[in-house]
Amino acid sequence: MDTPYRRYPDGLPDDLLDLGDRALLRVLGRPTLIRVPGTGEQAPRAVVTLLHGDESTGLQAILRVLRRRRRYPFDLYVVVGNVEAALHGPGFAHRYLDHQEDFNRVWGLDAPTTAQRRAADGILAELRAAGLESLVDVHNNTGDNPFYAIVTRMRPQTLNLATLFTSTLLRWDLAACTLMEALHDDVATVAVECGLPGRPESLAFAVDALRRYLGAAPLENDRIVRDLDLLGGLRKVTIRPEVRFRFGGDLDDEVDLVLAADADVHNFVEVPAGHVLGRVHPGSALPVRACAADGRDVTDHHFALVDGEVVLTRPTTPVMMTRTVEAARKDCLFYLATDLPPPPLAAA
Ligand SMILES: [Zn+2]
Repeated sequence: MDTPYRRYPDGLPDDLLDLGDRALLRVLGRPTLIRVPGTGEQAPRAVVTLLHGDESTGLQAILRVLRRRRRYPFDLYVVVGNVEAALHGPGFAHRYLDHQEDFNRVWGLDAPTTAQRRAADGILAELRAAGLESLVDVHNNTGDNPFYAIVTRMRPQTLNLATLFTSTLLRWDLAACTLMEALHDDVATVAVECGLPGRPESLAFAVDALRRYLGAAPLENDRIVRDLDLLGGLRKVTIRPEVRFRFGGDLDDEVDLVLAADADVHNFVEVPAGHVLGRVHPGSALPVRACAADGRDVTDHHFALVDGEVVLTRPTTPVMMTRTVEAARKDCLFYLATDLPPPPLAAA
């Protein structure tokens, strides 16, 4: 019987490593866990890629790093996530497929009912047993964002891991069954968001950052070593499922909502009260919904309709605004965030 994921406990064979990225994925065919053996002087580290099938940068970056065939003082685990979605159609075109769940929402659920959940369970069990020091989950955005890292714990080792990549941090407390959350109490885990996929600067950032991570000394766990900026208090904004919408263009009979074509230029920039998100037909109710981390509906706190325009009612910082209808449907439109005070640095 087929196993739900593929394993390479002794590293990727040379003939696979020499293949192009897509040819390699075709050989893998399913979620894959690779262990690149090191000298064992330090606790293992892990790099996770392609939990979303359209986010190619992490895979391309780690393959570039692995093709140098370096030996590290630790075992390196590499997860290649939703291979099936990444291969479908033109390639790297789908976050996940219609018959699948989002592969970054199925971790730590137990009692797996599907092949995808069995793969997640099996990989998670192996990562738990590995005694990891740290894990980095590499993603792309579907809209323009600066490079940033997501943290779900405020422990020094987690923050020190994040700032190896970038000092723009987003605190996430939305409990979404992600891989990083499944491990975050025992392991320093971060997600690193590398901008839009397919851009040379995204790949260059990811390669640089992974090399920094793999060359770094073990994480300090008793003090925060670098200053950082922190956004948090996330509220998830979705478009109501019955609402038809597009980015840019005129409001017509085809759609109920038109969003600004360049809505994503405000990512990580505070916008004032009155900021316009989009337009609706006269007589329409609010087409969006905002939800706090505890599930409370906070739509009316943040949004209002003024002369057919959907406006923000208080200053806020939009983050992760997408520019694709698919991402807005399958995940969300964006998050509202608030500046949080940075944690104190240890005296130098
Ligand atoms: Zn992602």
